[in-house]
Amino acid sequence: MENETQKVVIIDDEPTTLLLLESAVESLAKVITVSQSVQAFECVKLHCPDLVVLDISMPEMSGFEVCKQIKACPDTASIPVIFVTSHSDIENERIALSLGAIDFISKPVDMNLCRMRVSNHLTIQSQKSMLSTINTELEAEKKHLAITLRSIADGVISINAAGDVTFINPVAQRLTGYSEKEAIGKPIDAVMNLRDASSNESLLNPALYALEILRPVAMSYNATLVSRQNKIFRVEDSASPIIDDEGRLLGAVMVFQDVSEAVEMAVKMTHVTNHDQLTGLPNRVLLHDRIVQAVSRCFTSKQSIALLLIDIDNFKYLNDSLGHQIGDFVISNIAKRLNKVVGQGGTLARVGGDEFACLLSDVGSGFSADSIAMACLQAGREPIEINGKPHRLSLSIGISLYPQDAVNAEEMMRHADSAMYRSKSLGKDTFSFFSKDLQHAMHHRVEMEIKLRHAIENNALAVFLQPKYDFDNKKVQGAESLVRMYDESGEVIGPDEFIPLAEETGLIHQLGNQVLQKSCEFVASCNEHGQPFKIAVNVAAKQLANPGFAKEVEQIIKKAGIDASSIELEVTESALMHDFEQTRDILIELTSLGVTIALDDFGTGYSSLSYLRQFPLNVLKIDRSFVIDMDTEQQAHDIVTAIVHLALSLELKIVAEGIETQSHFNGLKALGCHLGQGYFMCRPMPMNDFFTKFIDDIDVA
Ligand code: C2E
Ligand code: CA
Ligand code: CA
Repeated sequence: MENETQKVVIIDDEPTTLLLLESAVESLAKVITVSQSVQAFECVKLHCPDLVVLDISMPEMSGFEVCKQIKACPDTASIPVIFVTSHSDIENERIALSLGAIDFISKPVDMNLCRMRVSNHLTIQSQKSMLSTINTELEAEKKHLAITLRSIADGVISINAAGDVTFINPVAQRLTGYSEKEAIGKPIDAVMNLRDASSNESLLNPALYALEILRPVAMSYNATLVSRQNKIFRVEDSASPIIDDEGRLLGAVMVFQDVSEAVEMAVKMTHVTNHDQLTGLPNRVLLHDRIVQAVSRCFTSKQSIALLLIDIDNFKYLNDSLGHQIGDFVISNIAKRLNKVVGQGGTLARVGGDEFACLLSDVGSGFSADSIAMACLQAGREPIEINGKPHRLSLSIGISLYPQDAVNAEEMMRHADSAMYRSKSLGKDTFSFFSKDLQHAMHHRVEMEIKLRHAIENNALAVFLQPKYDFDNKKVQGAESLVRMYDESGEVIGPDEFIPLAEETGLIHQLGNQVLQKSCEFVASCNEHGQPFKIAVNVAAKQLANPGFAKEVEQIIKKAGIDASSIELEVTESALMHDFEQTRDILIELTSLGVTIALDDFGTGYSSLSYLRQFPLNVLKIDRSFVIDMDTEQQAHDIVTAIVHLALSLELKIVAEGIETQSHFNGLKALGCHLGQGYFMCRPMPMNDFFTKFIDDIDVA
């Protein structure tokens, strides 16, 4: 590998040898000849050749001396020296080698041999220098890379294929709290404690994940890095597997940044863009978001959502006459009051100057929205002190419901708005539903609630009795208590119209107790007449959920002075589905009093036999919906048959309800039912009528 720029210095005192050597080397390199040995070293030092060809025996200074000089000087020490020697004796060669010579050319000079020797050494020399250049370059590159990695503002950690740390830059050291020395060789999980910002659950390290799936992994959302010193950083990270040209997996590298400040800023920014400055409440933008979310959840939960649009009556007048500052004061004041009413149950937002909106995302059939609306109205009526004087304000509210009134968030807003205008036109200080049906139903409900409260307060609920007959001897064995309410005109109102309302308003507890009390009193009067009698009383799910229920039952029975075994409580399957432990405890408490328990409406729920067996049940009532279809539908007949077999296998007494025909009666009797009730035998009737009709014809087993 000859090189034009390669230089050879030839030193010899004999002009002919010098000439000979020069002509031999000429074609290989640039030649510099020196005949005065005393100038030799200076010349070598000056030219720094790739090779020195040096005669041994010279007059002023021997070749050995010159060689010593060359090797002693750091600038020239590495230059290879070939000796030209006439006396190729062993001693000279030994001295030459010990001085650092690499080869010999013997006199008389053979041109070809000489050229080949020089050429070989020049090649070696040029390769050496190439290697050294490459080495220097590599070193420089390595240094540069290291500096780059060290100065990256992001954390960088690489791991080997086993998941152990092989590199960690200063930023990563700062964020993890591990120094390079501590981190290298440790499993990445021991160095990086990554957790989910909201749940605090441990996160899979993206570098390990990248190893697993062999492709780059994007940042895990919401990640925090907990440092060794328990400092918490919000981080965004990404990782890639390191795969060499042969496709071997060497490890993975991950890059992560501390985004704590950015996240904090973003949170602040979203708060600013989503909230109203004056009240701190969510604004229209956030409200819209929440409605959209609620609507999408509603899709699966089958619950209704309600949107109340709340407007301060005559606010413009107040604002114009008393000034904006007072206006702002009124708005913040009303906001606080409304917030108290809505609480955690909903989202209160300020959607305009004097307009608020309240989103309730769990309102069942939609009715519970009206109680919130009423509470808001009430809060708005509290006098507010302005300039030392109390002012009376009022609100107008419009309610729209999803999915009843609207198909999306925008429509909900619009419909709540038009309902709000209806409230204004009705004279303000009121609320209206968007839907006419709901508006109507709401009025009806409000009236019904007033009636019910009135009836309960005056102990004016009526209890009707429907007899239960023995299938064998057709005698009355007992009765079921069925509550009724009379309206002003003396019309009877059925329980289906007010029991759900009583459950929603909590009036069911008083109602249930009154029915039970009247039933116990009836039993007492039968007993006074010398007639034992058993009455079944319906119990609502909510009553069973009351931990003090059994105590109340005990007291009522005691007060009437009757035997607890004269009372049966009918509980529905759905009531048992409530809170298993508590319900069972209460039922056990009740049976230990001596009352019996009947499972009402059996077949309409989905409870399994093994579930029901865990409750202390005595009686199973076949729901009238099966009995009614029993003659016409094979399926209904099959169900009744199955229920009867089930009850018999559980040793439960079977009561069939809703018997309307002779054929129902015969069918149920044939299946082996014990007792039956229904219009075919007798409709429910007032207690007095029942007493006169049956008192002498009762046959209690
Ligand atoms: P339930 O417990 O299933 O009561 C039986 C219902 O079937 C009664 O309706 C009764 O009048 C009716 N019924 C009886 N025989 C026949 C028949 O042959 N054909 C038809 N079609 N119906 C018949 P009512 O009195 O309207 O009661 C309705 C529901 O109201 C009751 O269903 C019960 O769940 C509830 N209820 C009644 N009184 C009370 C009470 O004091 N407390 C509670 N929590 N719920 C009550
Ligand atoms: Ca019943
Ligand atoms: Ca029933």
